[in-house]
Amino acid sequence: NITPAFGLNSTATSYPTSHDKVEQYETPWFIDNEFKPSATTEFIDVHDPATNKLLTRVPQNTDEELKAAVASAQKAFESWRNTTVLHRQQIMFRFVALIRENWDRLAASITLEQGKTFADAKGDVLRGLQVAEAACAAPELLKGEVLEVAKDMETRTYREPLGVVAAICPFNFPAMIPLWCIPIATVTGNTIILKPSERDPGAAMILVELAKKAGFPEGVINVVHGAHKTVNFLLDEPAIKAISFVGGNKAGEYIFSRGSANGKRVQANLGAKNHAAVLPDANKNHFLNAVVGAAFGAAGQRCMALSTLVTVGETKDWLPELAERAKALQVNAGFEPGADLGPVITPQSKARIESLIASAEEEGATILLDGRGYKPEKYPDGNWIAPTIITNVKPHMRCYREEIFGPVLVVLNVDTLDEAIDLINANEYGNGVAIFTRSGATAEKFRRRIEAGQVGINVPIPVPLPMFSFTGNKKSVAGGGANTFYGRPGINFYTQLKTVTTMWSQEDALGKKADVAMPTHS
Ligand code: NAD
Repeated sequence: NITPAFGLNSTATSYPTSHDKVEQYETPWFIDNEFKPSATTEFIDVHDPATNKLLTRVPQNTDEELKAAVASAQKAFESWRNTTVLHRQQIMFRFVALIRENWDRLAASITLEQGKTFADAKGDVLRGLQVAEAACAAPELLKGEVLEVAKDMETRTYREPLGVVAAICPFNFPAMIPLWCIPIATVTGNTIILKPSERDPGAAMILVELAKKAGFPEGVINVVHGAHKTVNFLLDEPAIKAISFVGGNKAGEYIFSRGSANGKRVQANLGAKNHAAVLPDANKNHFLNAVVGAAFGAAGQRCMALSTLVTVGETKDWLPELAERAKALQVNAGFEPGADLGPVITPQSKARIESLIASAEEEGATILLDGRGYKPEKYPDGNWIAPTIITNVKPHMRCYREEIFGPVLVVLNVDTLDEAIDLINANEYGNGVAIFTRSGATAEKFRRRIEAGQVGINVPIPVPLPMFSFTGNKKSVAGGGANTFYGRPGINFYTQLKTVTTMWSQEDALGKKADVAMPTHS
């Protein structure tokens, strides 16, 4: 029953708002501002995680199609690089306005394909939109530096686009991550080939429809689909100068090494195991709400989910109350009013999360709150796991070592702040961390000693807004985190710095003999 169509067959004012009546369609790819059905015979099915009904099938683009996407982006680069940044800024203003107009429609696509609640999906869109808004400051951000370095001589810098760049996206933020890449890559004069997650490409398809409306010329943004085969093509294609990757460690470490070995710039944000340490002097009510929201929101499928709690001293006595609040959360399909968290992405993901909970039991931890076996009445076929809290966890356990990426909070107890810091620093991941305390001195000590890239002090999910940069650390980034997403570093990633030294006045050059020694500026 699958008919080729484009996007979600929806408009800014008309889009799906329930899990019941959903039109199935085949996801097209996007080249030269046109949506096209792929000639492939290989497809990847996408199901609504709340019902497991088929929504769409995503093509594995053929080699010819992948090559055509690159040729189109190369051709577009020749003229796009020569547009002024003010022209590109105008297009970005329109893109931003269109995303705002289509905000609910984008969110609806995310709720349907990814499963998160509609309210949370709106946040997914907003966090991406804010990057597009920040990219409108490109004329300021691209300004070079200039200095008179000697008499009649000056040095100035220019930031030039790289050429064709590519982005490889994860399933958990179907709008935000494409928007970490498209606005900054294009406003700086590059053309981009985007590969959305094959598990939920709908929001990315709506975004490129809006990009076309905003006035991006043909070929500046192309979308290709598929899994490993498409990724390998992008990594090996010499015309592609930079790769932006967000996803798990297995894929990310491989992509970083293969892309770098092929001489490309690579920025890669990977997995996480984010800890919260809670001190006895914390505001208990604030802490309980903050941790419950950050551990279980989006069904724990956020790279900054607060998935590990370290109770210091007597704060372990707060756990029953924490469990009560977690239990009160409504687990339901994303369009249902009052839903706090939706299903996890696939039945395979559910099975993996359940096996990690079982492993904790086998290794001697306590399941304080068990979300296995839960099903909302109206949606018996979804990938459900309700909030789960595992206590008495030890660092050697699988549930502590592996990223769970589900609505599961693991809890360890220590006696002192120093022990909490040592424990957190010994973990291989270093994306985000939070401390809950009312003491400035405690927070400052923690801030200085902690080895994580994004620190929240009484703030559970300290993701920096786009005037800053996303600064993961340790195993949560590839390549030591040198290339971070968005903010000024994002502009730097997508541009090549050119430094030009000029001398126009040559009247003083009267001597007949060449100077062969390096100038000493004495
Ligand atoms: P994933 O690694 O499975 O997939 C990400 C992308 O890589 C997809 O486009 C996929 O097609 C491709 N891919 C997957 N396996 C591959 C392989 N073996 N070879 C080549 N390409 C491959 O990640 P996911 O499950 O979609 O996303 C969840 C992960 O992303 C979590 O680990 C989460 O922590 C991480 N994440 C990190 C950040 C961050 O900023 N640090 C943000 C969001 C998500």
